[in-house]
Amino acid sequence: MRHKIEKTWEQRDMESVFHPFTDFGTLNSKGPVVLTHGDGIRVFDVHGKSYIDANSGLWNNVAGFNHQGIIDALCQQARKFPGYHSFFGRVADTTVALAEKLVELSPFSDGKVYFTNSGSEANDSVVKMLWMLHRRNGQSQRRKIITRLNAYHGVTVATASMTGKAYNAEFGLPLPGFLQTDCPHYWRFGRDGESELEFSQRLARNLEELIIKEGADTIAGMFAEPVQGAGGVIPPSEGYFEEIRPILRKYKIPLIADEVICGFGRTGTMWGSVKYNMEPDAIVASKCITAGYFPMGAVILGKELSEELIRVSEEAEEFPHGFTAGGNPLGCAVALKSIEVIENEGLMENVVKVSPHFMQRLRKLGEHKYAGEARGVGLMGAVEIVADKKTKQALPSELQISERIANKALEKGLICRPLGAAIVLGPAFIITEKEIDEIFDILEETMVEVFSDVG
Ligand code: PLP
Repeated sequence: MRHKIEKTWEQRDMESVFHPFTDFGTLNSKGPVVLTHGDGIRVFDVHGKSYIDANSGLWNNVAGFNHQGIIDALCQQARKFPGYHSFFGRVADTTVALAEKLVELSPFSDGKVYFTNSGSEANDSVVKMLWMLHRRNGQSQRRKIITRLNAYHGVTVATASMTGKAYNAEFGLPLPGFLQTDCPHYWRFGRDGESELEFSQRLARNLEELIIKEGADTIAGMFAEPVQGAGGVIPPSEGYFEEIRPILRKYKIPLIADEVICGFGRTGTMWGSVKYNMEPDAIVASKCITAGYFPMGAVILGKELSEELIRVSEEAEEFPHGFTAGGNPLGCAVALKSIEVIENEGLMENVVKVSPHFMQRLRKLGEHKYAGEARGVGLMGAVEIVADKKTKQALPSELQISERIANKALEKGLICRPLGAAIVLGPAFIITEKEIDEIFDILEETMVEVFSDVG
């Protein structure tokens, strides 16, 4: 009898998995990377090859890939009470404990937490909350949502419409009523002779003009990431949130901080919105909330918004929206432990400690003749590749420069992310200076090789 030819994991993947956000041309030519496990900031593929993951998964595996304390918390909860919903006034004790913890951690004096399974669902839920609130308050025309160019708020129909990136066109999105204002990227959009603060003031005037043009009484709310992540790591320009906040208050437009990436320490403080004086009405969290070990999103509603939402929900006899697995106690136990780890095992301190070294190595990368801007904060950074430092003109897109760098780095055992013309890094909070050096040594070598190919 002939031996059955065993398929490789790569073949099995390509025959069975429909990958999200994947270039199928590259996948077909290079094949997938099928992983079996991780150790610290490294992951290992089915052939035993090791990769340093400079993006901590998708910004979320901040405690590394095998934190025993978090794994134990998951197992303990699985033995105690592995799953329950939060509908109809029933709830698991662990879910209550996490809600209390999140309000305590938040900048709000009081508030309530609404649980989802992802960042997209959390942002989407806030849109529905705002629509319901305004409608119940006799302002059913208040439905428009403002976000910013280069924003990323998720992939549901509503949150994709809030996402200021080109790929929405594939789906005929955005939906009507989803508006976009400027991206606060001074290096890219600042004018000659304009100071950074003047740039922020101009953006604030543009925002006010948009509100007036659309009609303030048609706007439901504005969403903003403290630091734009998928837009290419864009910290706000100087004074940006201080300039736009009074305008939103003047027109009674709620501001939602999308902290899906920034929350829980990525910028070196617990909340990016606090670091940048956003003073939001609600915070949307996900990713690091469970250190990437369980799907979870959460909306932390500030006191005023939560009181109003409870009032209108009482009038409506319920808040008619919820996800079966939202607030699942397994995820809540993982989140409670992950937060404890971030707070008490020195992870936040480590971000603050190693961030100057991370930024220094990033800036050095920015000295290369094809590097336009090296930017970042805390443990999030990007280097943007340009054809000409002065004009900031991008290289021809057919060169696929950032993808080439990321692909070559992958061969050398480094996972980094190409985003537009930028290479983006967001390592785990446990990273050491030595590991930071390892990442930048490989990246520097790779960039030099790819640039010499380009000529
Ligand atoms: N908001 C921000 C700022 C994000 O970066 C992301 C995902 O990267 C999301 C929302 C969507 O989260 P999810 O992928 O969990 O739906």
